[in-house]
Amino acid sequence: MSDMSDTLFSVAEQVVLVSGGSRGIGLALARGFAQRGARVWITGRNADTLQAAAASLSGGAHAVRSLVCDVTVATQNQAVVETIVRECGRLDTLVNVAGVNIRQPAVNYSEEQFDYVMNINLRGAFFMAQAVGRAMLAQGHGSVINIDSLNSGGPLKNVTPYAMSKCGMNGMTRSLAIEWGPRGVRVNGLAPGFILTDLTQKLWSDPTMQTWNTANCPLGRLGVPDDLIGTAVFLASHAAGFLTGQTIYVDGGMLAGRVWPIPGDGGQ
Ligand code: NDP
Repeated sequence: MSDMSDTLFSVAEQVVLVSGGSRGIGLALARGFAQRGARVWITGRNADTLQAAAASLSGGAHAVRSLVCDVTVATQNQAVVETIVRECGRLDTLVNVAGVNIRQPAVNYSEEQFDYVMNINLRGAFFMAQAVGRAMLAQGHGSVINIDSLNSGGPLKNVTPYAMSKCGMNGMTRSLAIEWGPRGVRVNGLAPGFILTDLTQKLWSDPTMQTWNTANCPLGRLGVPDDLIGTAVFLASHAAGFLTGQTIYVDGGMLAGRVWPIPGDGGQ
């Protein structure tokens, strides 16, 4: 079989919605799908950012289209799905990316700050998945990819509500996989490790943090959004046709175990 005829990992002509696709990880994943011939839609809260993002993704087989949508408003999620299905006839893949974080000790969290994080990361992710799931169940196929975090596998200090939201998302991935699998809809998670984006730029500009990461990440570097494209494309493709209810940690090996300064190995 020549490379050209192997469609196992193909996402060409798939209709893909990237919720939270205007910046960072979502933008990179939207580009990854668009460059492989998918018909990509991106959403976010800011029309200007979205339009600039969509324009920056031009050049693929299909123009990338954008719609303003705040995931915390269920009716907006439903309207986005209805628009895509009306325009494209179906919706094959959801990449559920929209997320925020507030880093501070748990004892300092206000109710408003807690609700802000949970409303977007967990409640919003659920109602986006619900709107998309309705369309996918009706058409009898689809793939949902929830952007989780290494926090669901090993929480970090000073991000308790964020870690709680991602643990909730991890459970949602498995629950929806069970509910929707018999009707042809797969639901998986992609959990990034430390990735340089707007969300994390300030944190990783601290040399102490950089030194810690280099010493503790088995692959010895920070991730970039493009590191996640391969796993997302795989999860959306036929290659993952018997894979559901799983979360893949793309974290440079961070959760595999502990790197320790054992004497005598010269750090090797
Ligand atoms: P960015 O801040 O760079 O991007 C966040 C995206 O989500 C933007 O497109 C933003 O658009 C959108 N968004 C935020 N709130 C909403 C909302 N209420 N409705 C719709 N869209 C929204 O973050 P990252 O790219 O770093 O993170 C993306 C995802 O990856 C998040 O879920 C995050 O938890 C996860 N993640 C990130 C890691 C990292 O190291 N960067 C590690 C592990 C997981 P706008 O603001 O215009 O609405």
